[in-house]
Formats: sequence, C-alpha cells, structure tokens
Amino acid sequence: MSFATTGGVDMLAGISLEGLSVSFNGVRVLHGVDLSIGAGETLGLVGESGSGKSVTWLAALGLLPPRAKVTGRVLVDGKNLLDLPESKLAGIRGRRVAMIFQDPASALNPMLTIRRQIGEALSLHRGISGASLKAEAKRLLDLVGIPDAERRLNAYPHEFSGGQNQRIMIAMALAGQPDLLIADEPTTALDVTIQAQILDLLALTQRETGMALVLISHDLGVVSQVCDRVAVMYAGRVVEEAKVEELFDRPAHPYTRGLIGSLP
Ligand code: ADP
Ligand code: MG
Repeated sequence: MSFATTGGVDMLAGISLEGLSVSFNGVRVLHGVDLSIGAGETLGLVGESGSGKSVTWLAALGLLPPRAKVTGRVLVDGKNLLDLPESKLAGIRGRRVAMIFQDPASALNPMLTIRRQIGEALSLHRGISGASLKAEAKRLLDLVGIPDAERRLNAYPHEFSGGQNQRIMIAMALAGQPDLLIADEPTTALDVTIQAQILDLLALTQRETGMALVLISHDLGVVSQVCDRVAVMYAGRVVEEAKVEELFDRPAHPYTRGLIGSLP
C-alpha cells in the first residue's frame, strides 16, 4: 500500500467509501453509501438511531460479523480494503485507522491495569517496550488529561469515572498514532459537562496530531462544534453532505431541516 508522505512520516492520504451496501439476513440496512475523508480533515456523521452510521464504518473496517453481506468499495490509495485478507486489515486498524465507541466498558478489559492495556496497544502498533513503554503510556494519559498519570497507570478501569474511561479509550486509540480516528458517539453516554470536555479533547488532539477525524453522533450540535464538513444519514443512505455553514444556511433534505430546527 502506498501512502503520501508528510514531513517524513507516512500518512494515509484518505479513505473513500464507494457504493457501500450492507445486508443482514437478506435485509439491506445500508444502501450504497458514498463518503470520503482526506488527510487531516474532520467529518461529522449525523443521523437518527438505526440510520446506519455505525454499520457504515464497521463495514468499512471489516468489523461486522461474518454473516453480514458487504458490497461496494473502501478505497485507500487505490486499494479496496474489502479485498484485503483479515491479516492485512488488522494491521491497518489501530495503526492507520482507530475507532472508539460510545461505551468504554465494552472495549476496556476490567481485569487489566490501564498500563497493560495502553502498553499492549503501544507494543502491538509501535513496537515500544520496556522503560520507554511506561514513559509513553504516561505521556498519553497526561495528554488526555488524566491527573496524576504515573500513579494512575496502575489502576483498573473501575477506578475511573465514565468520562475518564472515555479519555483512556482516546489515549489507547492515539497509542497507534492513527492517521484517521473514527469516534462513534464517544460522548453519548456522558453528562453534558463531561461531553463538552471530551469534545474539546478530540478537537485539540485532532489539531495537534493532524489526524483525520470522523465524529459520529445523533446530535448535529455536537458535530458542528468539532467538524468542518457534515454528512447526514437517513434510513441507510447519505442524504446530504456539506460544509457545516452551508448545511445550516441551506439544508437540502427535510430530515436535516428538522435536525436544525430542533437545535436549542
Ligand atoms: P446507527 O449507528 O445509525 O444508530 P446502526 O448502523 O447501528 O445505526 O444500525 C443500522 C441498522 O442495521 C439498524 O437497523 C440495525 O438494527 C441494523 N444492524 C446493525 N448491526 C446489526 C447486526 N450485527 N445484525 C443485524 N442487524 C444489525
Ligand atoms: Mg451507532
């Protein structure tokens, strides 16, 4: 796979979903989704619950259960990820593209310290080990705003609040220095004040690392704070895609108008 080179570091030039369709048991839930995001861009993906936001990105990264039928193309520098064997895809996930979810409890192992979990990501994706592993794990916890990071590395997930666990998930996603982070409703389970902090953290790390960011949310207010461009999904289709200002000025789809009308 060839990557564009930026400042001596290989960067994913972008990812394009073309005509992505998904069926479960013969029932189609995704109908030919076209979406693309370039290096360093921010894209919001909004739509009501069940509209296909999660399935879109899970399908693109080969994370749906095998019984899902996926067609279309997911292009990364001319290669279709859907044609790659799982062994190659697994290398791309984490290192090139990381994904975080609404519920950190589903992704963090309650039996392992934070140090072990971030450490696994660091050794798997970047080959870091020994003393530098601890230092890098601490740096990541500092970066996402966990106080007293050195000591807290030895704590377990249940010793942190929901918002802190979401910060830890972000640290684990950043451990692989991904070119693209897909954040799937990362703040939905959190209190409003904590939501704002996590959004600020995502926006800040996006700017500092230059990674591309897809922020999935059912809340247009949330994505418009962080993203330059927004795609709107409805019933398994992307019905509209525009820059945030254009979307607010000239919403084309009735569902989008409803979304804007319902904002406080
Ligand atoms: P969103 O993320 O927008 O809330 P999803 O992408 O999770 O919606 O779901 C889109 C549709 O696909 C829904 O109708 C959902 O029930 C269905 N779906 C999602 N995952 C599965 C699955 N693993 N098996 C069967 N149906 C699924
Ligand atoms: Mg979802």
